[in-house]
Amino acid sequence: MRLIFLGPPGAGKGTQAKLLTERYGIPQLSTGDMLRAAVAQATEVGKRAKAVMDAGQLVSDEIVNEIVSDRIDQADCAKGFILDGYPRTVPQAIALGKMLDGKGLKLDAVIELKVDEAALVKRMENRVAETIAAGGTVRSDDNPEAFKRRLTEYREKTAPLSEHYAGTGQLRTVDGMAEVNTVTAEIEKILA
Ligand code: AMP
Repeated sequence: MRLIFLGPPGAGKGTQAKLLTERYGIPQLSTGDMLRAAVAQATEVGKRAKAVMDAGQLVSDEIVNEIVSDRIDQADCAKGFILDGYPRTVPQAIALGKMLDGKGLKLDAVIELKVDEAALVKRMENRVAETIAAGGTVRSDDNPEAFKRRLTEYREKTAPLSEHYAGTGQLRTVDGMAEVNTVTAEIEKILA
């Protein structure tokens, strides 16, 4: 099972991807998590990505295409994977298509979580509060200014992906405003 989750920041992509990893025994490949790990380890990629991420802007297609290609080659992806936060631009989607072709792999579905933009800032604030309550570290881009920028980046660069995947006949849309369990059930119906 090879899936892509689309949707703005705070739509619930990460939450749903995590739930499905358990159900299908396939890993969640979050480019955001991979980049945050690279920043934490101060790798070359991490050093290049940090300021861009903190500003809520997108890291270059070249960097993310390469980290995803390397990650897909790892043994735990043999049965499939869930891409969360990638592709994020039409050029990334085209690169992914070529990458998968080159590896002899096919996508099963592209699932878009539709949400009201007005709810997204509130969700980000809730995520910050929950992280603090759990004693965790808040993401450096989970602040109002960077979040606004992330939403703008989404509208300008990522939203056109819906049309791209509608064109390939792979796009499935789910109401991301529903309860977490309802959203999961809707996704499972699509995948059944
Ligand atoms: P996320 O955890 O998916 O919200 O990603 C956090 C940040 O990582 C984004 O705001 C971008 O700066 C960067 N990022 C994650 N995935 C990508 C991607 N596919 N293309 C470019 N930048 C990305």
